[in-house]
Amino acid sequence: MIYTDTRDETAKTDFRTAVMNGMNSTTGGLYMPVAFPKLDSSFINKNPAPSFRDIAFRMAQPYVDGEIPDGELMSIIEDAYPFSPKIVPLDSITYVLELFHGPTCAFKDFGARFMARVMSYFNRSENGKLHILVATSGDTGSAVGSAFHNVSGLDVTILYPEGKVSLLQEKQLSTFTGNVRALKVHGTFDDCQKLVKTAFTDDELRKKLRLSSANSINIARLLPQSFYYMYSSLVVRDRCALDNRIEHPAVIAVVPSGNFGNLTSGLIAREMGAPIEGFVAATNTNRTIPDWIATGDYRARTSVETYANAMDVGAPSNYERIAAMYTLEQVRQLFASYWLDNDGIMDAIKSCYSRTGYIIDPHGAIAWKAWDDIRSGSMEKLMGGLKGNIEYPGLTPNVPAWAEKIAERKSVGILLETADPAKFGSTVSKATGREPPVPARLMEVLKLADRAIPMQNDYEQFKSWLLENL
Ligand SMILES: *Cc1c(COP(=O)(O)O)cnc(C)c1O
Repeated sequence: MIYTDTRDETAKTDFRTAVMNGMNSTTGGLYMPVAFPKLDSSFINKNPAPSFRDIAFRMAQPYVDGEIPDGELMSIIEDAYPFSPKIVPLDSITYVLELFHGPTCAFKDFGARFMARVMSYFNRSENGKLHILVATSGDTGSAVGSAFHNVSGLDVTILYPEGKVSLLQEKQLSTFTGNVRALKVHGTFDDCQKLVKTAFTDDELRKKLRLSSANSINIARLLPQSFYYMYSSLVVRDRCALDNRIEHPAVIAVVPSGNFGNLTSGLIAREMGAPIEGFVAATNTNRTIPDWIATGDYRARTSVETYANAMDVGAPSNYERIAAMYTLEQVRQLFASYWLDNDGIMDAIKSCYSRTGYIIDPHGAIAWKAWDDIRSGSMEKLMGGLKGNIEYPGLTPNVPAWAEKIAERKSVGILLETADPAKFGSTVSKATGREPPVPARLMEVLKLADRAIPMQNDYEQFKSWLLENL
């Protein structure tokens, strides 16, 4: 497979380079495969649907394209995914896709674990260790640290702002041993990011240490997220015969989004033949993408804090990939978009619980409310010409191509649940009056010793530390 980039179509590279570089530093663009090969229809139409790991292998194969031999690729997948996504029906046309059964209880495990193993494979033919530096405001650091923990040839240093992450998040970051460690920086997330960026541009340091990032824009984090879209759409398609008897249901994936990596992965799955008719781009108050879809004007902005804080992104980096794949008009045909403010998020957690008994986290709650509104009349109102004001929470005014299927009651929703509600326990218990049960692997982490290393917000100190300790 040839990879090009979103800013320069003439740039051509292989999988290895795209993964190891993360982004094209000359153009600042993001890597994209030049094609999204369709899976065989005999594979897609198997009944029952193939297993998650079989799907993962078949979907990864064309992108890896022999750069990793098939046997190795299968081992990478088996080692990355000892857990699977789970599909939980809430009612006859609503399915929750639980993506939080990995070690850090959030969907980022799917991307980070695959990427870590692919990087480790490619690093085998290099001399010495590859040092990953990550700045985190909370969730990314733990997914990356956990994904690379004990992966050979790789070494991870996480920087997080001291006192600015939750207790649980801090425990998840600060308790690693072996090849992963955390520095608690006396500063903000932006300071952490700046230390990392300065290190990447420090030639003297780079002569001594091989450095890389584990950024969310890495193509090796994006591709594996497409596996669960394929898997869930095939499983749901099969279940419809029993659950609701809708023939040829229009499957709609409702995706709580921040940087839009997750949703972009869904687009890739659809291109490869996943039976997904459309998407709902669901955001919190950081509604850069809903506003773009509504007005046609893309305006990145500073992020604001919300209860769904893993989606507090004002300048979503994968906008660039979406805009490279589709025109605005195609996006408006394919996507509905929807946003909620904090009050709406609280109401959504509460009403999801009281109406279905399901405890949902603040991110998934936005997806739930979007789907609930769409199926109970908002889409028909839109089709009838009644458009809301985009300054208020709700659907944006575009009518996607699949709207008719909603009106005809021929669609089903897959709602992506991106985190275990226990990770946002205080918000969830405020909304529902119930403390969500904490999974054993999160309880375990609370008992471990804190090993974080204090660090001033000072580049020279950071650099000497790296040189002395790595
Ligand atoms: C990262 C994250 C998101 C947002 O995913 P994007 O790919 O950035 O759109 C949503 N929910 C949770 C819990 C996350 O950690």
